[in-house]
Amino acid sequence: MEVNIGEIKDIRGGEIRFRFVEDWAELDLDGQSLHWVSPVVFNGRVTAAGEVFLVRGTAAADIETSCARCLSPVRVSIKADVDERFRMASHGSSTNSASDQDDEDDDWYQEDVQEFRGLTIHLDDVVLENLLVSMPVKVLCREGCQGLCPQCGKDLNEGKCDCAIDDINPRMAQLGLLLNGRG
Ligand SMILES: [Zn+2]
Ligand SMILES: [Zn+2]
Repeated sequence: MEVNIGEIKDIRGGEIRFRFVEDWAELDLDGQSLHWVSPVVFNGRVTAAGEVFLVRGTAAADIETSCARCLSPVRVSIKADVDERFRMASHGSSTNSASDQDDEDDDWYQEDVQEFRGLTIHLDDVVLENLLVSMPVKVLCREGCQGLCPQCGKDLNEGKCDCAIDDINPRMAQLGLLLNGRG
């Protein structure tokens, strides 16, 4: 996903609308495997605001992940509002005295503006980041998923197993032991 801002770069308030629909290969981030099961769609616009270009829009995609309790695959739709700022990277370092220039640069960086080279803004990274942030931390395959038996590993949604844990929540039982031991 990339936008060429050539036609609006000198027009304050100039705008380019876009709609991207792309298939992204399976990505592996921080050991967390992301499996896209739909194309990633990004609808939005770039607006020229002086030296800064505003990218705003909505990104959406379906991913497949696993249920936090029973580990069965779950399909999740994620949607993210994107609102990012970009500026053109300055050409080389032809300026002589560095001090004034540096101050100006610092201000830009503090406002979290990303630089791009040439006339093309690459959007993949910001779309990915925003989608990741919008992902639910914990996904369940259904409300009230029974999860797996901690002893035999059976999927308890498919029926009870023969283990003798009955109604005692194993975590609570462990906590109880711990408290008794300390007390
Ligand atoms: Zn589940
Ligand atoms: Zn069991």
